[in-house]
Amino acid sequence: MTRQSDSNEIDRNSNRGGAARFDRRAFLANAGAAAGALGLGATSVAASETGPETIVPGFACDRRQFTCGRQATAGGGMVSSVDSIASGVAAAVLREGGNAVDAAVALQYVLTVTQPHGSGIGGGGFMVVYDADADAVDVVDSRERAPRGATEDMFLDEDGEPIPFERRIQMGEAVGVPGTVMGLETALARHGSRPRQRLVTPAIELAREGFPIDEVFADQIAENWDKFNEAAKEAYSDENGRPLAAGDTHVNPDLADTLAAIKRGGAAAFYEGPIAADLTATVRGAGGSMTIADLADYDVTIDDPVRAEWRDVEIVGQPLPSSGPSTVAYILKLLEFLDVGRYDIRSPEKYHLLGEATSLAWADRNEYMGDPEFVDAPIAGLLDDGYLRDRAAKISVDDTLADYEAGECVDPGVPPGAEPARAPTPDKEHGSTAHFSVVDADGNAVSYTSTIEQFMGSGMMVPGRGFMLNNELTDFSAVPDGPNSVEPWKRPLSSMSPIIVVRDGVPEFTVGSPGGWTIITSVAQTLLHRYVYGLDPLEALSEPTVFTTDCPPIMWEDGVPARAREATAGAGQVWEDESSGDFGNVQVIEIGDDELVGAADPTRDGLAVGVDRGGVGECGRTD
Ligand code: GLU
Repeated sequence: MTRQSDSNEIDRNSNRGGAARFDRRAFLANAGAAAGALGLGATSVAASETGPETIVPGFACDRRQFTCGRQATAGGGMVSSVDSIASGVAAAVLREGGNAVDAAVALQYVLTVTQPHGSGIGGGGFMVVYDADADAVDVVDSRERAPRGATEDMFLDEDGEPIPFERRIQMGEAVGVPGTVMGLETALARHGSRPRQRLVTPAIELAREGFPIDEVFADQIAENWDKFNEAAKEAYSDENGRPLAAGDTHVNPDLADTLAAIKRGGAAAFYEGPIAADLTATVRGAGGSMTIADLADYDVTIDDPVRAEWRDVEIVGQPLPSSGPSTVAYILKLLEFLDVGRYDIRSPEKYHLLGEATSLAWADRNEYMGDPEFVDAPIAGLLDDGYLRDRAAKISVDDTLADYEAGECVDPGVPPGAEPARAPTPDKEHGSTAHFSVVDADGNAVSYTSTIEQFMGSGMMVPGRGFMLNNELTDFSAVPDGPNSVEPWKRPLSSMSPIIVVRDGVPEFTVGSPGGWTIITSVAQTLLHRYVYGLDPLEALSEPTVFTTDCPPIMWEDGVPARAREATAGAGQVWEDESSGDFGNVQVIEIGDDELVGAADPTRDGLAVGVDRGGVGECGRTD
């Protein structure tokens, strides 16, 4: 990635001076992303004359340099994220000549302010980066770690039974040592070209000056009110103590101060000193063991991505401690061996094969996968073509792998190099998170999934500091004795699946999603729908998906036809009675020879923003 000199002009642009408040409604209208304004397949939405320029300096959807929409096409850069303000901020960074990592860093700091329910500096994540100069992919792995004082039985009650999940998610023991700030700082040092000061500033100004919250944010305040500590209740209520509603202005001066400290002092301002002291006091006050030394010792790892050949491309993504990309590849390879593409996209056979492939993958995921610093997982064996052909051969189009009606589950296999671990069955719920992608004019690409685990994490805000704490350690198995049991300084197994699909060594498609376990199936099916069924990017991520584990029933999104569900029931397949609504929030960018297509999942207020070439270079493939 070409490092560029610092630019004073950029700093001037970021300084808004006056306290012009952002009207999210006007912005969304400009962007064509107001509720109901966009149907599926909309592209390049026209914008009006007013709006976001006052809040996102250098950016407006109605400027000719930018193209906005649920799906957008452009030649000089692309951002796709769950948040329209964050997408605008990142697009402005690209337009100024910042690279994809610069834009991603600015975007994540903004999400800490505008979408604190989904990710933030109190959490962790995985940033997959393609560096065009180096022609290499690496991963900045900022997964949270268990404190050194964590114990393998910390989620068991006095009878040795797992503490119910609803209680676990609020325990101080559930808070992992956060990784996001170290991840952003490390990514910037390795790949960035702009000063941190420029990239943190938009988030500080949003936190200080306020912005109207959207419906998802308001819903999450309402739904999580009972789990909030006092600091969170105060931050997310109005002057009368009422929870903020959609359209209300949210200001968070404490968070502005925290971000300003990071702007001045970098990661040290977060991991050492008064912010670190307040963070650990909050966790310990709720029963956790985290110490100042745990924070001071935290560091990211730089991981080599997992790579799997699939059709005529390569799936490249975060390796363990995320099970995500490996399991996505496992499912897609099984489906390829089963030639799923011969069946119609909404046929009973397609859903049946998807369910069976997912169940086989899930059994192996649970059996073998864990933090690679602690567990020797046989990933090469699990993705071995010979092993997967044997697994695929177990699947029949008119029968199920086990008697699901009788409550049976699918068994794990024994891949080359493996020793079965007899993992306990996890008892996890779906949480939420944020995924976004950025591609710049030089072909650098970022696929970044970032989380505080459940919506609003543990419900604990660090008093006086304005940010939410994760409850990521609930991703461990509560019951010890498997590859994903709790150990001091270990990272819990994730399902997050930030992926870059590579063709002939060059990025072609970025994808990822929130949604806990369902991330894996949302991402796998988006790739299936794009590559096997040929849908365009927005259609591919919008096509209804299904989810299951090694123990069905199959959960399903609205749009999976009743006749398909009924037909597979004849083969022994068991479905949930009711639809689950929507899974995840997929964000993608497709990198063509001379244009980029971004798509943002309509399940939330996301926005794809394209940047024109503007003399800053050509996009995409360099071959
Ligand atoms: N904690 C989850 C994981 O790492 C992500 C949270 C979510 O998206 O629900 O897999």
